[in-house]
Amino acid sequence: MFNNNPRETRGTEERNQRVRFTGLDAGYPGRPVLRQLSGDIAALAMTALVGPNGSGKSTLLGVLAGVIQATAGELRYSEGRPPAFVPQRGAAGDALPLTVRQTVEMGRWGARGLWRRPTRQDRAVVDSAMERLAVADLAARQLGELSGGQRQRVLIAQGLAQQSDLLLLDEPATGLDPEARGRIATLLTELVADGTTVVQATHDLEAARAADACLLLDEGRLVGQGTPEQVLTATALARAW
Ligand code: ADP
Repeated sequence: MFNNNPRETRGTEERNQRVRFTGLDAGYPGRPVLRQLSGDIAALAMTALVGPNGSGKSTLLGVLAGVIQATAGELRYSEGRPPAFVPQRGAAGDALPLTVRQTVEMGRWGARGLWRRPTRQDRAVVDSAMERLAVADLAARQLGELSGGQRQRVLIAQGLAQQSDLLLLDEPATGLDPEARGRIATLLTELVADGTTVVQATHDLEAARAADACLLLDEGRLVGQGTPEQVLTATALARAW
């Protein structure tokens, strides 16, 4: 349910919003998914998108990333760079014959265009993203040879290479072992501390509880938004986990 407590509502408005959406409908040809979503993404915070499988988390991320067009409603971004989107592992063509470096370099395409040679600055950004995700020593390896956790870190490095202040991630820790999940959680927290707004769709209850805000989706509707304590109620947990 939306939180109608006036004090809470005022608190929400006072917070700095990175993205605000109102009356949003979106989906796929012949398959409406999101219905009348209104909510916001707080700036410089970590927001977790939670909800059962098929509830529309990936679709909402796609809309926020600009890869899925809303069919109704309004989407407003505060000033900032275009969002960086890290899709679900597997959606990224693990079988493509790409090295780790080439994959991370794709994060620079938006900034320099597909056909221009990487500049020294592009290379520095790519190196720094690979180092931050501890995949620099894998630079020459093929993506397909890596473990799930390594591949996920490469995809996040590609997102970082876009140098956006709005990072959208689809299930960044799903299927990883606890150590790999912990590394990703720590990194995302550091990014927020460094001034990035992070939104992640997640099935990881620990990650959702550690977020600053949660948006709970159910059958394409936004049925909860607020702090993890407000949103992750027993009913929500029973449905989504
Ligand atoms: P979640 O991320 O919460 O699991 P999704 O946003 O992936 O949910 O999916 C929401 C609904 O949209 C599901 O019913 C799913 O089957 C449908 N869907 C997802 N992707 C597509 C697509 N490319 N074409 C048609 N329907 C899709």
